Amino acid sequence: MDRLAKVFSQQDELIALEGLYKDEYFTFESLKGLPAEKGQRFHQLTLQLLEDLPQPVDPLKCTERSRQLREEGNLVFRSATKDPERVLKACKLYTGAVFEAEAANEELALAFANRGIALQEYGFFREAYDDCANALDCGYPEKMRHKLVMRQAHCAWKLEDLDVLEKHLSSLEQMQLNESFLQQLENLKNELEILKRKEADATASQQKQDIKSLEKISEDPGERGRYMVATEAIPQGTAIFSERASCFVPLEQRLICQQCASSLMSAPIPCPQCHQKVVYCSRKCREGHANIHRYECAGYRMDLFKLLGVSHLALRMVLVYVPLILPDLRDCKSSKEIWESLMKLVNEPEQGKMVPEYMQSLRMVSHLDQAPRPELVYHMLCANLLQTYLEKHTDYFDLFKVTAAGSEDWKVIVSALILRSAGQLLVNGHVGDALVPVALEANEFALLQPDMWQKPYHLRLGQLHNLSHTELVTAVNLPYLSLCNHACVPSIRTKFDGCSVVNYARSNIAAGEEIFNCYTRDYRNSLKSQRIKPLKEVYKFQCSCVACVQAEPDKDYLAFHQYLCEKKNCRKKFIPDVQQNDLTWWMQSNADNPIVCTLCKERQSFAWYNEFLDLIESCGDSSKRRELYRAFDKLDNWLVDHHSLKGTMAGELVTACFAEMDDGCFLTDFDYENLARIIRKNLESTAAQCGDTSMEYISQMTYLWDIVALKKCKMDKKELGCFTDKLKYLAQEHKEVFMNYYNDFIKEQCK
Ligand SMILES: [Zn+2]
Ligand SMILES: [Zn+2]
Ligand SMILES: [Zn+2]
Ligand SMILES: [Zn+2]
Repeated sequence: MDRLAKVFSQQDELIALEGLYKDEYFTFESLKGLPAEKGQRFHQLTLQLLEDLPQPVDPLKCTERSRQLREEGNLVFRSATKDPERVLKACKLYTGAVFEAEAANEELALAFANRGIALQEYGFFREAYDDCANALDCGYPEKMRHKLVMRQAHCAWKLEDLDVLEKHLSSLEQMQLNESFLQQLENLKNELEILKRKEADATASQQKQDIKSLEKISEDPGERGRYMVATEAIPQGTAIFSERASCFVPLEQRLICQQCASSLMSAPIPCPQCHQKVVYCSRKCREGHANIHRYECAGYRMDLFKLLGVSHLALRMVLVYVPLILPDLRDCKSSKEIWESLMKLVNEPEQGKMVPEYMQSLRMVSHLDQAPRPELVYHMLCANLLQTYLEKHTDYFDLFKVTAAGSEDWKVIVSALILRSAGQLLVNGHVGDALVPVALEANEFALLQPDMWQKPYHLRLGQLHNLSHTELVTAVNLPYLSLCNHACVPSIRTKFDGCSVVNYARSNIAAGEEIFNCYTRDYRNSLKSQRIKPLKEVYKFQCSCVACVQAEPDKDYLAFHQYLCEKKNCRKKFIPDVQQNDLTWWMQSNADNPIVCTLCKERQSFAWYNEFLDLIESCGDSSKRRELYRAFDKLDNWLVDHHSLKGTMAGELVTACFAEMDDGCFLTDFDYENLARIIRKNLESTAAQCGDTSMEYISQMTYLWDIVALKKCKMDKKELGCFTDKLKYLAQEHKEVFMNYYNDFIKEQCK
């Protein structure tokens, strides 16, 4: 990072962005106008930076580490013990071997082949099938190939994929097989016939859903610009619209599939060229992404993208969209002509809802023209760096050989488009979340955690709470969702499902009412003054939504921050002075919390809070837990109603007790009874502050489900129905896991 900052500041000294910012194209055109010596020095600095970035990798050491991990995996896999975690433990080790075998094909082939066996035994047939294909691709030894093909045929049978099964069976018939393999072949041929009859019997009852448009985009020639309105009354909880993103990038903290954004993976397939930084959930996803990754692989290898933040997603947009725009620009002869044609497309009037995604994206607003100079220069230098990278480390510019303009023209255009996208993303970018196991390392995978699962996609009893942690995993471009204007009282609840989003009505929306998104924390979770700054600095407007214009704009937020004064002779209800206090003082580590009663002016000591934290520390001890439950009930002496801190403390209490349980501590019926009571209370508070469909709510729900599954508390039909309703707000892959858990452990008990 320092290296980048240093180069950027040296480059900044060389350029003089004179005059007013006009547009992205003008910025790079003017860069070309630098005096020759300065221009050369500028370019040299970029080249040097790109050369310094790559870290050497020792292929021999990688191969050795891979072999070690595979052999460890073999020991675990073949051990005679009845360890139920044996297979997943082996899968985990084999995955390590796959990751380490960088560009070492022989090792890689063996690692894939061994992982395939383990995956097949566990029941991950699609993944096992892919691993066999991977091993064959990497040059698996000729004399053993029939074993892998047989394995593929077996998986295809399990997956009921007739065509694939038939293909493999006929290729096996061409091979020299021994007695036992001939027998297997015979069995599979019989299975094929059974499958064929089954398929013939199956009635194809595919219904096409008639999707009615519940929303439309209107245009206001005045200040409001484009906005989204409801075409009819939309009841709370209805899915209003969905959108599939073709451009997203994983955030640095977690490895997810680069093609479908899946975070639940049992057999991640890495790109074996770029140091374990890119993974796919399947071969299909890897193929689907090949046309993008060929231009990014070198960049991942040198860790370029993590330095550049939003510009990586901007690059992705250029890589994805440019081939789609190219036909319109083929005959332009100069960069100027190309840019003018582009801007003409951008400014063409809207033709209904069917505007293609790349065009919607080209039309997104940007406020780069109002950005302070350092910010503008930073994004411009990032765009320049990426364009130089594409030129020096990939064959990207070959794409333009078919056009009338020259490569110098295209360099300016590509830089300008990256800058333009970056500027748009600063105001339009979205960040997607996903559920991941608590305390999962960035390079680990949820489905490979041996202590969590009993079989594919089925958690063990009492494990749902370990899938309750929400993490931000992607930066996404969603041009249609971006058309929603901001209000501090949002009308939608956005669900991220891989690289798609579905937007549900958060409350009832009347016909003709505008549909709003919220770009900041909403009115129940922030002060108006806290929202003003980002809205002004980033989005360049002042909010005048219903929450902001009311006489007491902070009333709804402050309702979650009422105290009862600690001083015996006061004991009155008060809300701290928001000018002088950080209302969420407990979130800041070691924060000084000079919360003062506004009536008697006495400073609050919060001794009860510190005692509570001490009890949490020692909640492995059953008597301390008893005290803890009592302390929680006593919070009502200090915190009024659904005080925000009460929710935080309930959450910590529950998490800590479950962590003890996970570590083998025995919880009694009395414990479960109290925990269930505290969770239910906390769910009420969470519903009040964050909404009863929020991830915060669902996350706490998992703890209650675990207690019910363990038969330690009852849940009536009504409560259960209210919870199962929430599952639609989960991504498809997680919803399946939750449904399985429900069917395995809960349904039976709630008749
Ligand atoms: Zn995928
Ligand atoms: Zn790669
Ligand atoms: Zn507002
Ligand atoms: Zn007081």
